[in-house]
Amino acid sequence: MCNIRSEIVQKGYPSLHTKAEPVREDEFGTPELLAIIAAMKKALAGEEDGAAIAAPQIGISKRIFVIAENIFGPTHPKYGSKDPHLVFINPEITKLSKKTAIMDEGCLSVRGTYGNVRRAVGATVSARDEHGVPFIRGAGGLLAQVFQHETDHLNGVLFIDRALETWDAEYPKRKSE
Ligand code: ZN
Repeated sequence: MCNIRSEIVQKGYPSLHTKAEPVREDEFGTPELLAIIAAMKKALAGEEDGAAIAAPQIGISKRIFVIAENIFGPTHPKYGSKDPHLVFINPEITKLSKKTAIMDEGCLSVRGTYGNVRRAVGATVSARDEHGVPFIRGAGGLLAQVFQHETDHLNGVLFIDRALETWDAEYPKRKSE
């Protein structure tokens, strides 16, 4: 069998700082691809505050991210959506709103640190699901932020590379706000 692990790697790990490879046409729907996605979902499910995870966060340099069902699935009162798509493969951000905002952010691969990043408040992503079926999803608010954060992961960029300031999670936020 394959040696896919569902452990989340931390900053400094090579896959977090490398541009990930697109999933190839012949990989869609294969047991190998489904195993990677299952490992990502398992890793994400183990993190109470995890909104999403990208494949490089489990050490796999492929262009895949998965959003958390407990936050973006249909049962969440605030962010939930009837859109069934949770798996984004070879995603491309096709549209970003002109309007931006400074948003607080953290990352499962940068434990203990938070920061603030300027992001577009709206984003549209075009992607394919695990079987290769294309879809487009637009979002505002938290999900738009997640789209940008996860796409950054696929390009080897962490939020701390973009953050205007960062702070230790154990301390209150610095500066005014
Ligand atoms: Zn992250």
